[in-house]
Amino acid sequence: MAAKSLTRLVSALVILAGGGAMPRAAAAVETAKIDGVSCVDAAAFGERFGLHARWLEPDKRLLLEDAGTRVTLEVNQRELVFDGRHVWMGSPAVYHGHSLWISFIDAEKVIRPLLRLGLDRPPPVRTIIIDPGHGIPDNGTENKHLGLKERVLTLDTAFRLEKILEAQGYRVVMTRTTDYAISPDKKLDLRMRDELIAHERADLFISIHYNAAGQYAPGESLAAVHGTETYRFTPRYQVPLSRSTHHPEDDEANPGDSNAGWNTVLAYCIQRAVLGELGTYDRGLRHDKLGVLRLASCPAVLIEAGYLSNDAEARKIATPAYREQIAEGIAAGIRAYVDLGQPPPAPPASVPSRPPVAAPPPPAAAPAR
Ligand SMILES: [Zn+2]
Repeated sequence: MAAKSLTRLVSALVILAGGGAMPRAAAAVETAKIDGVSCVDAAAFGERFGLHARWLEPDKRLLLEDAGTRVTLEVNQRELVFDGRHVWMGSPAVYHGHSLWISFIDAEKVIRPLLRLGLDRPPPVRTIIIDPGHGIPDNGTENKHLGLKERVLTLDTAFRLEKILEAQGYRVVMTRTTDYAISPDKKLDLRMRDELIAHERADLFISIHYNAAGQYAPGESLAAVHGTETYRFTPRYQVPLSRSTHHPEDDEANPGDSNAGWNTVLAYCIQRAVLGELGTYDRGLRHDKLGVLRLASCPAVLIEAGYLSNDAEARKIATPAYREQIAEGIAAGIRAYVDLGQPPPAPPASVPSRPPVAAPPPPAAAPAR
């Protein structure tokens, strides 16, 4: 991170200086309306951050890179790869006039925050809400033949995360601490979880879930689907990954939009840390218009740590040791997020002296003559 941050910082300074070395860096990036979506030329956008663009496959896959970062974009795909991690945009990249274009919203709410990772400092974090998904009467997803219920596993994982975060000095609030949902009415239940954010003046909201194969895995055998996903709230005007067509509600403003950039960064940090801890398959940083994130007035994400519908993954999730690893991964992601943009630790006031070396014995006094 340090070397990468330095590269970025130098790029940013060049942009600020409007320096002659990179005359195009200071120029505004051209925008165009393509199929009704405001887009920017990805190569020109990347260049503002000191990234160089080249086609990996002509007119199909574009690489933006500098010494420390690689961003791969593909025409007609919403998925991009950022430093080896899969990240989903709101709109597919498009080919137009010999260039690859991305939506302005994705450039500003996904790519820019990731390119500035380590340079910008997130809002301070003191109070963290942990939301164990579901609760009686809602079991969430189930693996019936292994006897696993999502609501039980999310609560256990949340307690583990609570313990780790409290030991690190955070104030932690749980949306539920019993087997029961806050309200038996699903809509009211989701709203009450969200209302806690304002009531507790929360700085982060972390919702924990386990997954079942369904609509997000076209073409795959459902039982084979496995891996880890982290969700941010789909920004205004964009279509969530769970649908392919635009609905009028996509244009509604939601409180969850106000932190779109930080939602991306938090989700990225957590997804990367959980994958690092578990070594699970990377299903990506995704987005959806999730009710539990809709009203969040602080950076908020939802983690689908693994698939209960996949027996091999479900057997791991069933063990306390694995759920502890999940909690450790989420906590490490939160720590990585909180530490972003912090000045490097100050060097010690003085160079520590070497361990004292025994002084040579004083020379024997010359015998008096
Ligand atoms: Zn769930």
